[in-house]
Amino acid sequence: MSTSTRPNILMIYTGGTIGMIENPNTRALEPFDFDHLIDNVPKIRMLDFDIANYQFEKPVDSSAMNTSHWVDIARVIEDNYDKYDGFVVLHGTDTMAYTASALSFMLENLDKPVIITGSQLPIGEVRTDGEENLITALQVAAAREQNGTPMVREVAILFENYLWRGNRSTKHSADHFNAFKSNNYPELARIGLGITYNKEALWRVPAAGPLKVHSSMDPNVLYIDLFPGICETTIRHLLATPGLKGVVLKTFGAGNGPSDPWFLKALKEAIDNGVVIVNVTQCSNGSVHQQRYLTGWGLAQIGVVSGHDLTSEAAITKLMHLFGEGLTSEQVKNAMEVSIRGEMSL
Ligand code: ASP
Repeated sequence: MSTSTRPNILMIYTGGTIGMIENPNTRALEPFDFDHLIDNVPKIRMLDFDIANYQFEKPVDSSAMNTSHWVDIARVIEDNYDKYDGFVVLHGTDTMAYTASALSFMLENLDKPVIITGSQLPIGEVRTDGEENLITALQVAAAREQNGTPMVREVAILFENYLWRGNRSTKHSADHFNAFKSNNYPELARIGLGITYNKEALWRVPAAGPLKVHSSMDPNVLYIDLFPGICETTIRHLLATPGLKGVVLKTFGAGNGPSDPWFLKALKEAIDNGVVIVNVTQCSNGSVHQQRYLTGWGLAQIGVVSGHDLTSEAAITKLMHLFGEGLTSEQVKNAMEVSIRGEMSL
């Protein structure tokens, strides 16, 4: 932490609409460079903060993000952890919930704010939501408790009227300014005339040691999104993916799937071969209860792990993190059943 009392914040610009401008030839939005961003928000200079910035060499539309981009962000935070009080990550909205979830798992013992934000309209546009989001994100990253400790000590998404826990968030609207939601966990703060923190919801587990960055994420995972009529060939084809280690099975309601014997048989064979299958619900709110109906019970019997109320973004990135750590299937199963960064309610 800096010795000055002025908050010292590092902004990390990865790309996304917030920093895009219209290409005059194609009229498509393309990432621009960071200086453009600051030029468009002169108000930032009115904050009594020390703000430094770091820009990705090549800013990207967040749809182009992959695990190496997550590692880059985590590394920048690690390299600068002692120098700054907080971090603001500017990021496209499309995969923001994935990055937020991934970073939450990658940054063990985090006890400073990592606030991710972006916008639906480019910051240079008159009606942009980017200016407000950026300024509020900086204020949240700078907020302290009365005793001087950071108010937020986790990865969070700041968007329009809310601050959400990163690994509980989902992009729920392609059009609205309030683009993110956390359907199974309350807001960390409400943004209105002021910023009202929900202290009960903020992460307050004391860090067990210094920041530890886990930079290995295993991409050998996939989603199987069920629908009535899904056929055996499709399921078997997906489960036969070479190198497959983990599957997030998106099920109906409280964790239910087809009752055809071939379905359970195909999943059981994959589990016997070491694939970890995690059950999350397709519903936007609520939790998996595998024991509630016979179809869900069947999944539990063959060894499908309940993802409880995990978002699918958190479930898939948690699998990537745990397999990236080199854990065995059994160890991954056990870790999926417990909350490691506040990602699920038990
Ligand atoms: N496609 C953009 C991105 O995710 C959308 C946005 O930033 O809102 O980078």
